[in-house]
Amino acid sequence: LKIEEYRPQSFIDFTKEENIQAYQEALAKVRRELVGKHYPLIINGERVDTEQKFESVNPCDTSEVVGTTARATEEHAEQALQGAWKAFEEWKTWSMDARARVLLKASAILKKRRLEACALMSLEVGKNYAEADVEIAEAIDFLEYYARQAMKYDGFGAAETTWFDGEENGLMYLPLGAGVSISPWNFPGAIFLGMLAAPIVVGNTVIAKPAEDSGMIAGFLVDILIEAGLPAGVVQFLPGKGSEVGEYLVQHPQTRFITFTGSRDVGLRINEVAAKVKVDEGQKWIKRVIMELGGKDGMIVDETADIDNAITAAVQGAFGFNGQKCSAMSRLIVVDDVYDDVVNGFVERAGKLKVGTGEENANVTAVVNQMSFDKIKGYLDIAPEEGKVLLGGEAPGEANGKPGYYVQPTIVGDVKRDARMAQEEIFGPVVSVIRARDWQDALDIANSTVYGLTGGVCSSRRERLEEAREKFEVGNLYFNRKITGAIVGVQPFGGYNLSGTDSKAGGPEYLGNFMQLKTVTERW
Ligand code: GLU
Repeated sequence: LKIEEYRPQSFIDFTKEENIQAYQEALAKVRRELVGKHYPLIINGERVDTEQKFESVNPCDTSEVVGTTARATEEHAEQALQGAWKAFEEWKTWSMDARARVLLKASAILKKRRLEACALMSLEVGKNYAEADVEIAEAIDFLEYYARQAMKYDGFGAAETTWFDGEENGLMYLPLGAGVSISPWNFPGAIFLGMLAAPIVVGNTVIAKPAEDSGMIAGFLVDILIEAGLPAGVVQFLPGKGSEVGEYLVQHPQTRFITFTGSRDVGLRINEVAAKVKVDEGQKWIKRVIMELGGKDGMIVDETADIDNAITAAVQGAFGFNGQKCSAMSRLIVVDDVYDDVVNGFVERAGKLKVGTGEENANVTAVVNQMSFDKIKGYLDIAPEEGKVLLGGEAPGEANGKPGYYVQPTIVGDVKRDARMAQEEIFGPVVSVIRARDWQDALDIANSTVYGLTGGVCSSRRERLEEAREKFEVGNLYFNRKITGAIVGVQPFGGYNLSGTDSKAGGPEYLGNFMQLKTVTERW
């Protein structure tokens, strides 16, 4: 493969009027061409429609149905799985180069349609311009990065082994087979595509089950892979309910691997169901399970921190895409000496965030659906008992006259370290602030959850940063900046403990999740 070195995409500068205008033109184009569109299933390259459908509702204006996708049944899942195994026979024989080219061509197409993809997400899940742009940049990065990473695994002897006289020894990397990718609505472009591009580039075939709220952007991206030359059956597009087709495929004896990004409870359930080996039904492997689950991510601010910088980091980390990121800062842990300064500044700055639609590029938009809205409201209800509500605290369910799942940016002060709001993932624009006695106490609080995804420290003391480097138990640790927004290849992403299997998406070992190794020895 002849190709320049990987470099992440740069982001669009939306302080420039011409870029805002370009985005609005893309929104208009999407309104003309994609709104109202229906995406059928794709099984073995054929578009298959279903009686039942999913509606993608604009969360920022629930009176608008953005489009629809088909809704697969168990029979469709069965056909898709059989078809994926059939396609695997051929696809696994393609050279690594040839498969990588499909990703690179898809990347070239997506670069041209970047703003369109962004605009579709603004409507379907309520992303503002910058959040959508960063995400499609990440989707492009995944394609570019995994295409190059795949080269590392090519051919006999790709991995290092020790020479032994009189023999040739070596390791081969082989794909696993047909698997299932169950992806979330919060990064319906980047994570959806990353969770497909990685397994397929190394020779697997995949059934893609997008989240029920974001099937359109998924359909849009699968169409790009097909346009790029992906053979029929390599990706089976199967929007469906998790409890129906998701569950069916997870328990299926012929499913070889499952890659899942989503909530802890669903992930643990998948892990449990997948662990059962159905020998009587012909299952002859232990399913590989790759998980990215939740977080209750904390950022520490100590008495030596640059307070202004810490406040910026807190606002960005907490309220980017309304806190609907597993990486979001949902616990701000502040050392007593600077507690008032930090918290007052945080409340003041967060108070300036504008709530509105993704389409009008508000800072904070609506949360994704009724279920999220109700769940977050449940936490707002207990907030006054668990701390002092310093900002927000309401979920008005409308903004600027539009009905939508709107929740005010909310900051709750003096939350106890073991309170529900300090321990449970809320997945919305709600931050619990916890007061720490000192640095040691703060680090203790930071580590006192079952999760371990992202974390941060704002401090100017070198020895504390070094101590955190060793002792802060998270997969992604950030110093003196926001704790969200990992960039492919730059900050490989994935968590410890109940945050997942630490798979490190966008990292140099990620493709290894989807391969098995064979050692071959020939005696001369
Ligand atoms: N990779 C994203 C970030 O670094 C978060 C992914 C997620 O929320 O699932 O912010």
